[in-house]
Amino acid sequence: MSRTLTIFIDGLPFDQLEKLPYSSRFVSKGRLVPILGYSVNCQTQLFTGKKPDELGFWGEWTYAPETAPFKKLAPLFKLLSLVEVSYYAKRVVHRFIDKMGRASATKNIPLSYLGQFEETGHSVLSSWFKQESLLQHPKMKVILHNKFPVVERRDEDAYKATKKYIDETDDLESVLVTFTRIDACSHWLGVASDPYNELLLVQDKYIEELSEAYLAKVPDGTILVASDHGMVNVTEQVNINLEREIGNPNANGYAYFTEGTILRVWCERDAMREKIATYLDGVAGMEQLCDEDRKEFGITNPKFGDLIYHTHEGHQFVPSFWGPKPSVGMHGYHPRYESQHGICLSSRPGDFDGKVSATDFYNVLSGYLGTA
Ligand SMILES: [Zn+2]
Repeated sequence: MSRTLTIFIDGLPFDQLEKLPYSSRFVSKGRLVPILGYSVNCQTQLFTGKKPDELGFWGEWTYAPETAPFKKLAPLFKLLSLVEVSYYAKRVVHRFIDKMGRASATKNIPLSYLGQFEETGHSVLSSWFKQESLLQHPKMKVILHNKFPVVERRDEDAYKATKKYIDETDDLESVLVTFTRIDACSHWLGVASDPYNELLLVQDKYIEELSEAYLAKVPDGTILVASDHGMVNVTEQVNINLEREIGNPNANGYAYFTEGTILRVWCERDAMREKIATYLDGVAGMEQLCDEDRKEFGITNPKFGDLIYHTHEGHQFVPSFWGPKPSVGMHGYHPRYESQHGICLSSRPGDFDGKVSATDFYNVLSGYLGTA
């Protein structure tokens, strides 16, 4: 057992680590290979050790026609979907729906489909997450970025609050702090853009200041730094149009959900599944996720989708329920691409080396914390 300072950084790719002078010198360095998926699962696996099959969710939203919270409102939503020709009007309606409190964020899910979907997945860092995780460990003080109201300043505020806590607390136990601005910056301004590179140095300074302050108070402590996944710039768009090729989902016994890089389809009948697969297999820039991969990533649960497609590195579905336009940077690609790998660092030799998984990180951290 050892007291630990854990620093979580959303979306910091392993291949960017060399630009961080302090952090790149940690004695233990692992290349974190995530599962295929988004932060909601990648982050949660770091602090629960669990893959989607064990958590019961993959992605935030899933097809759930029986239990969907907006099921009864489906006819109204269909009517309201007339406003969707205007992006602005659509955002207003979605914001209003989000205020109802039945889901944390309805993103850009078309209103006519919303009544069939349920938000079953939440990140371990969200207050909506109700399962057990290391965040509840009695010997860990948790300082989350999302507790700070000004989004643009969250990292700075989380850093200051953590530094103050370390400096002012006697008998320091373990501490966890989370940062997310690098992920946001890469989505909207791009990986390795000038502001991104500047942000890397700021992040590195936060890691240095917090590590030095913590080790000054807890000389035998351990510093862990982890990110959930990597990131790459978008170069190609993939356009799919199931409505045009197959017909309207509501009337044709299938449903689909597109995110930036992942498309899931649910079908009532095998014949429909084959018809859709034939169409999607012919679209360039993406491929179907094979059964071996579903097993390896722990996404075998049939409710995660009868068909799962993922775009090739740098390709993004446009439009998708993630948004109407391409992002500058994206993640959620197959982990065979090195750009998708995150970091896993420890100040203690032997903790991490070579390729590691989020569950490996979980095992190291929970080993240090000891049983609750
Ligand atoms: Zn992201």
